[in-house]
Amino acid sequence: MTTETKPGCLFCKIVRKEIPAEIVFEDGDILAFPDIAPKAPTHVLVIPKRHVDRLSDTTRADEPLLGRLLGGLAEVARTLGLDDYRVVVNNGAGAGQVVFHVHVHLMAGRQFKWPAG
Ligand code: 5GP
Ligand code: ZN
Repeated sequence: MTTETKPGCLFCKIVRKEIPAEIVFEDGDILAFPDIAPKAPTHVLVIPKRHVDRLSDTTRADEPLLGRLLGGLAEVARTLGLDDYRVVVNNGAGAGQVVFHVHVHLMAGRQFKWPAG
């Protein structure tokens, strides 16, 4: 999997280490760091290093990367000693996506409502 970043993208800047983030996990394909405005006591974002705008832009060719994204998230959760946690992907502005570089939210440490709001 190659690293292709997009110049103006906020999360690509974090990938290129141009914007600081407290990186909690990194491998060749993914990066995890705390959300700057946490919505739970633990709120970590897991992102692919390669730029993709949103989940709905992925194709079958991206499935290994998507698998790694969730597998890496589970690794981060284990490392943090988390057992109960919420995993969220906002796809599209109407669903609350603000940063258009695909990412998965890992949240823990409080009660979560179901169905999700
Ligand atoms: P979205 O709403 O797109 O699913 O989530 C984007 C998340 O990125 C938001 O929860 C927001 O707080 C977080 N965020 C925005 N800018 C930054 C930043 O510069 N650094 C970090 N660590 N998180 C950010
Ligand atoms: Zn990007």
